[in-house]
Amino acid sequence: MAKHEQTELVIIIGSGPAGWTAALYAVRANLRPLVFAGRPKTVPTTILPGGQLMMTTEVENYPGFPDGITGPKMMSYFEQQAVRFGTRIVTDNGLSPDVSNSEDGHSHAYHDCQSVDFSRRPFRVIGEDSTEYRAHSVIVATGATANWLGLPNEQRLARSGGGVSACAVCDGALPVFRNKAVGVVGGGDSACEEATYLTKFASKVYVIHRRDKLRASKIMAERTAANHKIEFVWNREVVDVLGDKMISGVRLKHSQTAAESTLELGGLFMAIGHTPATAFLNGQLELDAKKYIKLKDPYRSATSVEGVFAAGDCVDSVYRQAVTAAGMGCKAALDAERWLGQQGIE
Ligand code: NAP
Repeated sequence: MAKHEQTELVIIIGSGPAGWTAALYAVRANLRPLVFAGRPKTVPTTILPGGQLMMTTEVENYPGFPDGITGPKMMSYFEQQAVRFGTRIVTDNGLSPDVSNSEDGHSHAYHDCQSVDFSRRPFRVIGEDSTEYRAHSVIVATGATANWLGLPNEQRLARSGGGVSACAVCDGALPVFRNKAVGVVGGGDSACEEATYLTKFASKVYVIHRRDKLRASKIMAERTAANHKIEFVWNREVVDVLGDKMISGVRLKHSQTAAESTLELGGLFMAIGHTPATAFLNGQLELDAKKYIKLKDPYRSATSVEGVFAAGDCVDSVYRQAVTAAGMGCKAALDAERWLGQQGIE
């Protein structure tokens, strides 16, 4: 196995708001952070590069941007700010300070992290090319990824480009969905946001929800309900996705009566929540029942392994906001800095 010679003070795994904020604070504290930012569309991927904001259109609730900003652009700004002070990123070309394209918010040259070994110090972080990196401290900020229903035809059509997706913002503008009736599954803010976004391209958008009440925030729910292109399909679960090469519709089951029906669709988008990207930890950090990383003290960032800190959506199943993730990234860097100081490691 190839080895990166230097033992780093801190390695940051993740490149969403938490990861880049941790990098910004760590680099300004002279910790010379090294970031695994993740590779776009690597399957399986540990890190969703740039985090979930890469799949968001307008971000209107991040303070400091009175006119809003697109998610990818915002993540590019986060990254540029961390890099400006000397943050290094693991890339195809070695440890590069190069920043991503400011429009797409991420570089295809960035590396994912394959696995970690927290059983000994310095800790080991293994890159996607199997190179071993050592670090005195690690900040895990790997975020979360979209959930699927798990239906065989859903998976088949999603993998084959048959009009099933878990990211309307990534795929909704594709010509295949233009002027078609499409469905969004879910009843949270994501479902509302994605349905509204899809009305730009689709002739009609059905929001298919398993209950008769949205989980979404009031403002998002009201905006969605006011959109004349959106129709809610209440109390329905998707039990099958129909179509051979391309989706033609879904089979629905009424949540209370179990009556089945069919809805014709030219596209289907999942918006049913997320799963934290913690599988790569292989049980080395204590997780909660939903697989989010458990913190020793909820107000701090220390995990069950001394010297390993965590921040952002891989920790937080409650707030899951860019601004809260950024705040957690800041706390993790400050905690790592203090801990390294207490250990006498410089
Ligand atoms: P969420 O709030 O957890 O909502 C997930 C939705 O999917 C729920 O309505 C849930 O139904 C439904 N669902 C879950 N599993 C399902 C299944 N197997 N079959 C059918 N339906 C299923 O997730 P989210 O909408 O992704 O939002 C996550 C967080 O991000 C929230 O804090 C949200 O406020 C935030 N967010 C904010 C914005 C924004 O402000 N611009 C945009 C997107 C997300 P039940 O309601 O029945 O549980």
